[in-house]
Amino acid sequence: MKINSRGDIKGSIPSSVCFEDVLLKPGYSTIESRAEVSLNSSLNDYELSLPLISSPMDTVTEASMASVMFDCGGLGIIHRYNCIDDQQKHIEEAWEEMATTFLGAADDFEPLIGAAIGVSGDYMERASACVSAGARILCVDVAHGHHVLVKKALKKLRKKFGSPVHIMAGNVATLKAFNDLADWGAESVRVGVGGGSICSTRVQTGHGVPTLQSIIDCAQSDRGAMLIADGGFKTSGDIVKALAAGADFVMLGSLLAGTDETPGDIFENIHGDKYKAYRGMASKEAQMEWRGNTSSLEGVATTVPYKGRVSFILGELERGIRSGLSYTGAKNLAELQTKASFIRQTAAGQIESSTHILRR
Ligand code: IMP
Repeated sequence: MKINSRGDIKGSIPSSVCFEDVLLKPGYSTIESRAEVSLNSSLNDYELSLPLISSPMDTVTEASMASVMFDCGGLGIIHRYNCIDDQQKHIEEAWEEMATTFLGAADDFEPLIGAAIGVSGDYMERASACVSAGARILCVDVAHGHHVLVKKALKKLRKKFGSPVHIMAGNVATLKAFNDLADWGAESVRVGVGGGSICSTRVQTGHGVPTLQSIIDCAQSDRGAMLIADGGFKTSGDIVKALAAGADFVMLGSLLAGTDETPGDIFENIHGDKYKAYRGMASKEAQMEWRGNTSSLEGVATTVPYKGRVSFILGELERGIRSGLSYTGAKNLAELQTKASFIRQTAAGQIESSTHILRR
């Protein structure tokens, strides 16, 4: 779609779908117990048994979150919004916590820790420090991943680190961007621009693509890079829709926020309700704290109710995902993607799909 000098719009504007616009049609199932469903997936040689990744945000992932995510079969990406020494300490602490939890701590113990890096300044030094502290996944973590600085960084990182280091990058919203990042050296790509619960990118800049639509588009890629859906997940139902649409993993911020394992204190109001902070990394509060000044403000800071242990939340999500696969009749994630059938729902359908007695 283009607008000429007289202001006429040429071409039609493509439409897009959000999680709530669609449903998955139930299919014939031979699954007798949800325990039969496998949620196994791999990132190169690294096997995971839960397709969930915690966001590299300073109110989501430091050592404790990374350790529990690994323990529950998923992955944590330790954030980069600190000095290199502090990020290294978080990685080392995560390593130690994982070793303590791992039964035996045997010789073959191979913890999986991800660490985020940027694309300017000391990012190569940070990448080396993270890898020497024990990170096996480097996540090139920027808001607009389809960018020349990401291209340069990926090429340098690929050259410096061999195959034991998996390189993730993002975020992107289009198939062209997904393919470019894969061609530049990313083995997994975070997909989703503007959909995060704390994100104001679409309000501030007018840019973005609904996360489900980005997943559908990027899943057409023939490059073999893993697709990490990121931003806007409110329920396990949304996660099932993303996995069915072609995501290999789902990255979570707000669903994990407020748990014991997130960094930060618990606040209590005068009624005894407990809260924890959750904030976008482009919020004023986060930017002031990590770099002492602000540039474009594309996020907000808030509090969320305290939720207790993250293993409880992950357990609930896992049960919902297993149940979702069972409704499609899929024994694993690959079957989900081949068997899934989406339908659009109307606004009336969206109301019927909610627990509508609670609206009365
Ligand atoms: P949520 O799971 O919907 O809360 O979204 C979390 C995701 O939002 C993260 O994984 C990031 O991709 C993205 N994000 C984090 N901070 C910001 C921000 O300040 N602005 C826009 N997006 C953000």
